[in-house]
Amino acid sequence: MGNIEGKPVHEEVVPLGGTNDWRKRLISMPIPNSILRNSTLKQALDSLIHKGRIDRTLGVELYFETDINALFSLAHMVKYARFSDQIFFNQNLHVNTTNICVLACRFCAFRKGPRHEDAYELSVEEYLHRIDPFSTDIDEVHSVGGLHPTWNIEHYKNLYSGAKQKFPHIHIKSLTAVEIKHLAVRSNLSVWDVLVELRNSGLDSIPGGGAEILVDSVRDRICRGKESSQEYLDIHRSAHHLGIPSNCTMLFGTVESIEDRITHLELLRELQDETNGFQCFVPYPFLPDFTRLPEAQLATSSEILRMIAISRIMLDNIPHIKAYRMNIGNEVTQLALLAGADDIDGTVGHEEIMHSAGSTAPLDSGVQELVKLIHESNQIPIRRNTIYSQFFVENCEKQESNILPVVA
Ligand code: SF4
Repeated sequence: MGNIEGKPVHEEVVPLGGTNDWRKRLISMPIPNSILRNSTLKQALDSLIHKGRIDRTLGVELYFETDINALFSLAHMVKYARFSDQIFFNQNLHVNTTNICVLACRFCAFRKGPRHEDAYELSVEEYLHRIDPFSTDIDEVHSVGGLHPTWNIEHYKNLYSGAKQKFPHIHIKSLTAVEIKHLAVRSNLSVWDVLVELRNSGLDSIPGGGAEILVDSVRDRICRGKESSQEYLDIHRSAHHLGIPSNCTMLFGTVESIEDRITHLELLRELQDETNGFQCFVPYPFLPDFTRLPEAQLATSSEILRMIAISRIMLDNIPHIKAYRMNIGNEVTQLALLAGADDIDGTVGHEEIMHSAGSTAPLDSGVQELVKLIHESNQIPIRRNTIYSQFFVENCEKQESNILPVVA
């Protein structure tokens, strides 16, 4: 974990996914009356315990036929069976490589044309310079960007090898699936060969961005020209086969139906059955700015939490569900930690994609702020590395909280 100080506590962390142990723990947990009273939730719990998973029909019913508090209770039970009252985060930095993009997805507020006055493209030196001031505090750099019209694989090989040479302790999580496809086309290589060359240059894992909704009729309306649903899955499949772990995401609240969201979850679950390469699922809503996608249906806070809860219940084979603070803000994140989420991403330091779209999530949160956020949900903050193989319990002294006491 580089220069990050902390107390390693592997033995205190509940063993992570990939086993059926969490289902055994689920059987022995007390069942809240709110779940017992709702036939859909009771059926979902029985299915998880006895069949191992819930089907898509039940996934849709969870959305339409459950009381929100009872749904959160079931999702929290599943999360608790997996990780007890532990919540994970890391110390990372986001560095976007360029905002210049040859595509123009309708939900994207980040991309710029090459001649726009705010367009930028980081040289290798500028990239390293961005990381430098944070390098002793972080163990992950998260880098994604637009589809640059002239860069090919050589630029990214230089970025990663330069970063590894200067900051060998920092894990490089970089490139969305569509960036990998774009590099393959620009470099006249297969996706497989791009991944092999980038892995050999220092790429450690890939984030899940760009999944949007894995239904091509929806993609055609919100991000025409991007990779197809099948291509997204195939690129992640290739990464997993090469031993490169990845995350997966879902952008909801644009033009998709609830059934489309459930299809998305099913497709990710099927790929995970095959490869077991996804570490974490990150669902987040479209952030409107009144100019893009005026027909978007937009998700309310309760809908965001409902999707997080259903994701936890449906994705029985993906270990972690992330409440992405940079998108949903700290307040909804705290509620998500009681509705199935077990991870809040990291310290981040700098973020452009969600903030270009209107996010006001604070960017100056240090470890102590994240610890406080987790403590206020009455759970235990666990600092982790990117691939969830090292864990550190943060100082668990309860901090002063701004929460008003509840008077009986
Ligand atoms: S979402 Fe990505 S691919 Fe689409 S316009 Fe924005 S930067 Fe380009």
